[in-house]
Amino acid sequence: REFDGIRLEKVREHVWEIPREGDMNVPARVLASESLLAEIGEDDSLRQLKNATHLPGMVEPALCMPDGHQGYGFPVGGVGAIDARTGCISPGAVGYDINCGVRMVRTNLTYDDVRGREEELVDALFEAIPSGLGGGGVIGGDADAIEGALERGVEWAVEEGYGIESDLARCEDEGRRPDARPEYVSQKAMDRGRNQMGSLGSGNHFLEVQRVTDVFREAVAEEYGLREDGIVVLIHCGSRGLGHQTCNDYLRRIEKEHGDLLADLPDKELAAAPAGSELAEEYYGAMGACINFAWVNRQLITHQARETFGEVFDADPIEDLGMELLYDVAHNIAKKETHEVGVDADGRPAVGDEAVDRADRELYVHRKGATRAFPAGHEDVPEAYRGVGQPVIIPGSMGAGSYVLRGGDESMSVSFGSTAHGAGRLMSRTQAKQEFWGGDVQDDLEDGQQIYVKAESGATIAEEAPGVYKDIDEVIRVSDELGIGDKVARTFPVCNIKG
Ligand code: 5GP
Ligand code: MN
Ligand code: MN
Repeated sequence: REFDGIRLEKVREHVWEIPREGDMNVPARVLASESLLAEIGEDDSLRQLKNATHLPGMVEPALCMPDGHQGYGFPVGGVGAIDARTGCISPGAVGYDINCGVRMVRTNLTYDDVRGREEELVDALFEAIPSGLGGGGVIGGDADAIEGALERGVEWAVEEGYGIESDLARCEDEGRRPDARPEYVSQKAMDRGRNQMGSLGSGNHFLEVQRVTDVFREAVAEEYGLREDGIVVLIHCGSRGLGHQTCNDYLRRIEKEHGDLLADLPDKELAAAPAGSELAEEYYGAMGACINFAWVNRQLITHQARETFGEVFDADPIEDLGMELLYDVAHNIAKKETHEVGVDADGRPAVGDEAVDRADRELYVHRKGATRAFPAGHEDVPEAYRGVGQPVIIPGSMGAGSYVLRGGDESMSVSFGSTAHGAGRLMSRTQAKQEFWGGDVQDDLEDGQQIYVKAESGATIAEEAPGVYKDIDEVIRVSDELGIGDKVARTFPVCNIKG
């Protein structure tokens, strides 16, 4: 297949390779079906993916997940693993919304408990959870709160009474990055985050009440506490202005301090700090603090959701409603992880014929619009799930299904333990606003599918209309067939609040 002069070879079912040429350090691969590849080929994703292979120290092929689409420098849906000793770390390959992510909260409620009360529920949630561009969060972020959140993440929030002990074990890294360094986050970034602690933000972020419509792997669903017809809550948001400002701060500093590296890259948006440099260490520590902040953000929203459900259903959210966290996964992140990679006769990372052996290497695994999907048995999977693999939560759209997967056995060898993070956009926000009208979309959802959506602005509903996203079922089929993320359950929206 060829798109705009970029040729791809089919390696096997759902695996397409852009062969190495010119200054590419490694090949690139797209994990997609024929139809998803055709959609990925329509925007700038393939060129961006190819450009990313120029980043120094990239090992193994750069990857695009089945939901990939173009982003800032690096495609959304991109996974790039870079040698943490000799390579670099790239803020553009992490993304502006550091630790944007989703978490799912389970409940003991069934669809029958909620039916007929959707509007009451959505109004109460909308009231309790700050959203949109306007300021204000669940708590006022004084200096102690910001410091606690950046330094200690969910641990701080639980200590302050915004969660329960078991929430900790159900986050990646127990909700606290060990290498967070708040001192590398600028004052300006902290000021932007201050009045946003516990707020959805605008656009693509949401809280959605869903019901489980299908269970594909009974035994795993049982471990996750999911049952057909059960009600779950999905929360999607990130690090707000704090993460955005931090990304910006470090991109500017890279331009100033590492112009030489930048000059060699085909796209300035891929700006990277060389591994081992002061700037790389500082960005990594600052990013860790932003990751903690985003976790606290989702934790505070979880707290509000629990309180609201408690009031609406006149019950204790934990004791009666069983509102335990299923899991929290990150979308935009780079982490030092150890993976097996191909190496040459001298032990240097290598691809193709030059790779004569395989060895463990510490890597910056960049996942941008991609979800970690570690399989059963992996030591970083929380004990409660280690027997079945980590939960992977993948939203679809406010008018289509979403999925819970489990990290698949092939994920470590195929995708650095990663899979998709959504359905992926088919069209830009600008295009979407020309194509759809918020009020009409809202009416169609309510009348046609009994989905109750409430948003701060109609434009947001148009920008996020179900029609702007790809076919989630197809994305999940590819993940499942590749064995990187296996289908466990499918959910469908009941009501949704948007930024
Ligand atoms: P992103 O992290 O790239 O902003 O979004 C992740 C995914 O969320 C999108 O690719 C899309 O499939 C999904 N999504 C966007 N809006 C909604 C929504 O309102 N409800 C659900 N369930 N999924 C959504
Ligand atoms: Mn985000
Ligand atoms: Mn996201």
